[in-house]
Amino acid sequence: MLLEQIANAGIVGCGGAGFPTAAKYQTQAEYFIINAAECEPLLKTDHYIMNHYAKECVQAIAEVGALLQAQHIVIATKAYYTKEINALENAIAELKVPVSVFKMENFYPAGDEQTMVFEVTGRTVPPAGIPINVGCVVSNIATMLNVYQAKSGNKVTRKFLTITGAVKEPKILDVPIGTSFAECLALAGGATIDDFMFINGGPMMGRVGTMADFAEQVVTKTTSGIIITEKRDFIYELFEKDMGQVITKARSSCIQCRLCTELCPRYQIGHPIHPHRVMRHLAITDPAEIDDDPIWQEALLCCECGICEVVACPMGLMPRQVNKFVKQRLAEKGVRYQRKENLELTVSTMRDYQKVPPKKIILKDGLKEYVDLKVENCVAYEPASVKIPLKMHIGAPTEAVVQIGDTIQIGDLIGQKPETALGANIHASINGIVTAIAPDSITIERKAG
Ligand code: SF4
Ligand code: SF4
Repeated sequence: MLLEQIANAGIVGCGGAGFPTAAKYQTQAEYFIINAAECEPLLKTDHYIMNHYAKECVQAIAEVGALLQAQHIVIATKAYYTKEINALENAIAELKVPVSVFKMENFYPAGDEQTMVFEVTGRTVPPAGIPINVGCVVSNIATMLNVYQAKSGNKVTRKFLTITGAVKEPKILDVPIGTSFAECLALAGGATIDDFMFINGGPMMGRVGTMADFAEQVVTKTTSGIIITEKRDFIYELFEKDMGQVITKARSSCIQCRLCTELCPRYQIGHPIHPHRVMRHLAITDPAEIDDDPIWQEALLCCECGICEVVACPMGLMPRQVNKFVKQRLAEKGVRYQRKENLELTVSTMRDYQKVPPKKIILKDGLKEYVDLKVENCVAYEPASVKIPLKMHIGAPTEAVVQIGDTIQIGDLIGQKPETALGANIHASINGIVTAIAPDSITIERKAG
């Protein structure tokens, strides 16, 4: 019943790439872990949800934990989120449910799924594996609010998100899916600078874009935040990068100090990933000849957290971009990671001493002035129109099941996933009339009166 409600609501993971939640829950697990770390600096969306919807989230967490027959139901968050922990623990006590709070140190990327599994259980997810391989299912706290709402038949039609950075009034927004970023910016009082760039998501793993791209952006099921920023050296360099130059610099300037490897969170939990080796390999190989060599395959284990290039490298090189480049070449050649049987996974003995404080990231990214901005108030908004993407998840795109001119209500099905494919249905986020259907989106305009 609960699984069906989750599938009907079109729920996907709010914290990452949008894996369809109903598909994830078709299993049993020893641990059900809730990712409540919100480890990307500046974002406050999950903080808001924990502070204002703790009881709803805890109720849903307990029910999904029971569905998975989990022996341990754990909310993993950072110890210094004292207000949020208080709200969660009060909700747990009030509901009398077998849920506990696991308190982590303040480091990045505490919210990386595999890092979190290691922190909570001491187990390393196998290279190129997923948490269920070690008995765990992990979901984001915001996803649990959607699960709670799905129990009353509500579909995923709205999104909480943070808008912060160079804006007049940073805040949390509660908007329908498909609301334009331009309207979100207006709700924050507009930008404080004329020529800005933006980050869709957090400073480390978000997608960076310029004002020219901004007008095209809309809120999706996975939008967690919008950060408006100046054209800062490092962020802009990443955005503007020329892969030819990145490779040339990697070949000429890598001093093989290994810092990128030592600080890599996946290396630290025992994965055979050594970005310094990939960099070295690049120096002696023509990029066109990237093949299934085991060293190139290591790039497939990279979660693209960015620590190697934002924090570790003393030469200003970009191992993450190199890994992304290698991954693309391997994907083109159909090369997948070859797991090795009985591979011993050795956890770094230095791991506890090498955790990266978020402050270091903020300093490098030049975002320090935004750290102390208060992002607490929430504004709910109803736009005159929305443009809803037909794919906001991992899996097959949905197919439009409405026609131009149709009158529809919030929650009506507008995009249906192919029956047997991985995916999630998409629903109308406002009452109105369908005014445009493109291959990748449906536009709805609010009905007058
Ligand atoms: S981005 Fe760098 S630090 Fe992060 S997982 Fe990849 S190689 Fe490791
Ligand atoms: S940290 Fe930089 S210089 Fe050192 S090995 Fe890695 S890429 Fe090379």
